[in-house]
Amino acid sequence: MKKLALHWQIIIGLALGLIYGIIATNSGWGSFTSDWIAPFGTIFINLLKLIAMPLVLSSLITGVASLSDIKKLSRIGGKTIGIYIGTTALAVTLGLISVNLIKPGDKVPDNMKEKLKLTYQKDAAKKANTVQKVKDRGPLQPLVDMVPSNFLNSASSNRNMLQVVFMAIFIGIGLIQIPKEKGKPVQQFFESLTDVVIKLVDIIMLMAPIGVFALIAQTINKVAGNNPSEILELLGALGYYMFAVIMGLIAHAAITYTGIMRLMTKMPLETFYKGIAPAQLLAFSTSSSGATLPVTMERCEEELGVSEEVSSFVLPLGATINMDGTALYQAVAAVFIAQTLNMSLDLSAQLTIVLTTVLASIGTAAVPGAGIVMLVIILESVGVPSAGIALILGVDRILDMLRTTVNVTGDATVAVIIADSEDQLNILTK
Ligand code: ASP
Repeated sequence: MKKLALHWQIIIGLALGLIYGIIATNSGWGSFTSDWIAPFGTIFINLLKLIAMPLVLSSLITGVASLSDIKKLSRIGGKTIGIYIGTTALAVTLGLISVNLIKPGDKVPDNMKEKLKLTYQKDAAKKANTVQKVKDRGPLQPLVDMVPSNFLNSASSNRNMLQVVFMAIFIGIGLIQIPKEKGKPVQQFFESLTDVVIKLVDIIMLMAPIGVFALIAQTINKVAGNNPSEILELLGALGYYMFAVIMGLIAHAAITYTGIMRLMTKMPLETFYKGIAPAQLLAFSTSSSGATLPVTMERCEEELGVSEEVSSFVLPLGATINMDGTALYQAVAAVFIAQTLNMSLDLSAQLTIVLTTVLASIGTAAVPGAGIVMLVIILESVGVPSAGIALILGVDRILDMLRTTVNVTGDATVAVIIADSEDQLNILTK
């Protein structure tokens, strides 16, 4: 019998997780789910995170070293960053169009506004505190943060992915500069490490349906608790806001990604979406583009035919700095909060949102819930009180799942475009 394609296996896990989650919430099985189901999701996500760092390091070193000259590196680097920033700016614009057309903030009942503010006040204050630390730093701090002073320190946390990216590019450049003979052992070591880690992705993905089942079940358990009627009330009050984010995300995928894919590559859309679907489903289930990265890389290389040289450079960079879904969501959320508080944002404020959002999304970590923390900075840049995030915290996880899916799709789209432009796309017809 032919084995069910991976994306179908994951979809089944996801659907069963959803059904179980709803039944569990209605039957009060909250602690059973946390004790006996959730750990499998945690193990699955830990396995993915475990290999993310070695994969980025080894594949990026190999990738840069195989570019064989600095000129090529800066050409691909420049193109990649240019497209990343361009697509993010488009995403923000689509988000702003969506929220200005739908005007979700005008549709929240007054009593609900008060209730939301009271319920989420404490959590909102905590997030605002985190961001205070970020804001107290100088303007060039993000640049300083990219350069680690101790490699082992930066490799100790997946939040420091950008430092590892820097380190890997740096080592790769060193490798190009020394005679080939001398560099060979180091290069071969990292090449073989990359192959081993990619194999580990295959092994981990055997567990994907169960992992996804557990992750979704626990997410519902956490969001709804033992009181499902509350989440329904929340969904009702914030329905238009969610609708505005979702419409923006769909428009971005349908217009921007489809458009550039058609215009700039020969990749059939069906092949692309079939190939990348497991990574998208994983992004949805884990809300973390960092944890999804190993799968995104594996799918791009093995299913979409992106060369290792391109994927190992474009994707780790994308997972850390390219977050179209997050940027779009941040723009919608900022305007929604302003609308709810009856503050109007003029054109210059909306332009400020475009600028700060593109920058904030670059600085957003590829982990669950990071987007809402950076939202505080955007709100303050246009004079909207950051305590306003209390209004949207209740439904943030659901939107996080969706925006992370778009983040990952964006990275894969750009990987295909860059590969094609460098003549390094080998579309596999299966
Ligand atoms: N969860 C998102 C990601 O990992 C970041 C965010 O928007 O919170 O891509």
